[in-house]
Amino acid sequence: MPTISTGDKVLVTGANGFIAVWVVRKFLEKGYAVRGSVRSADKGKFLKEMFKSYGDKFELVVVEDITKEGAFDEAVKGVDAIAHTASPFYLDAASVDELIGPAVNGTTCILKSAAKNGQGVKRIVITSSCASVVEVGNDKVFTEKDWNELAIKEVKEQGDEASGLAKYFASKTLAEKAAWEFYEKNKSDVKWDLAVLNPPFVFGPIIHDVKGVDSLNTSARQWHDTVLVDGKPKDFLTTQGESWIDVRDVAEAHVLALEKEAAGGERIIISEGSFVWQDWIDAANSLSPSPIPSHTPLPVGYPGAGRTAKPPVVYDTAKEKRILDLKYHTKEETTRDILADFEKRGW
Ligand code: NDP
Repeated sequence: MPTISTGDKVLVTGANGFIAVWVVRKFLEKGYAVRGSVRSADKGKFLKEMFKSYGDKFELVVVEDITKEGAFDEAVKGVDAIAHTASPFYLDAASVDELIGPAVNGTTCILKSAAKNGQGVKRIVITSSCASVVEVGNDKVFTEKDWNELAIKEVKEQGDEASGLAKYFASKTLAEKAAWEFYEKNKSDVKWDLAVLNPPFVFGPIIHDVKGVDSLNTSARQWHDTVLVDGKPKDFLTTQGESWIDVRDVAEAHVLALEKEAAGGERIIISEGSFVWQDWIDAANSLSPSPIPSHTPLPVGYPGAGRTAKPPVVYDTAKEKRILDLKYHTKEETTRDILADFEKRGW
């Protein structure tokens, strides 16, 4: 399959989100044109301002309901590739449908629109998640062959009573499955192919429009509350965690997944490595001078206790190294940039 090259136009869905704004920025910096989709013109205002120096290389389209048949029929016209990031990510959903509906139907809608009207589309990259790979409680090294059947089972058996985590995990797993199923059924009729990225927890500085800590996206909020709010129990800090990746490396991965021929037809785990939450507290305290002097002293938790902790989840990233070969930010770099951003915001 042909891949994209500088000057091509990429549709980025959910362009106002934590990850997506970095994705848009990365494409623009590399010389691509971007059409960003948002749910309302209001939600796109800050993007217009942020990327105004790119002139007509950045445009916005409003797609009010991504689950409506034909939602993206107009948005896909004239683009060379699509990065589909829009999907709800919160862990306290009351119902299964509020997550699975937009995750699954949003994904199939964009693929259908691309099949119908995306004559110029060469590749679609979908922002899936390690949520669709990992099964909580299983100690193995997870690879791209693994699927989170456990979350689907929990949601099937317990419905709205399933845990918030299972609802979100199931939404991502079912959405990714739906994407591959659609592609397999239609690949002989479409000119594009599919690549899927599976990041674990994504952390990093914020450039999207956030009014305050309370409206931070899920992963950034968890990081903030762990590193800056004192009093987390030792057991939580030294046994709980996951794997992680810097948001700027996720953005780079989206570009590479569209540029690298070998990414076509692949789901790819992108992860810097594992963490327990104490590691981030240690990283914050290791920085001198502190990037956030307004928070002196920072919470210290249980210094060094993370170093001997068992990694909560381990992913095999051999495929990423072979195909994308990302240069990951370190925990210290990511921590420094997040804290410097918090300081500027007065958080
Ligand atoms: P954000 O909450 O910051 O952004 C989510 C984006 O999806 C927003 O543009 C949001 O639009 C849109 N969206 C949410 N719900 C709906 C809906 N019902 N209909 C249409 N659009 C919707 O989250 P992230 O940037 O963190 O997440 C982006 C993607 O990355 C998601 O697919 C998520 O699952 C995935 N991901 C995130 C990880 C992380 O740690 N952050 C880890 C792994 C994967 P609006 O602002 O209008 O609500």
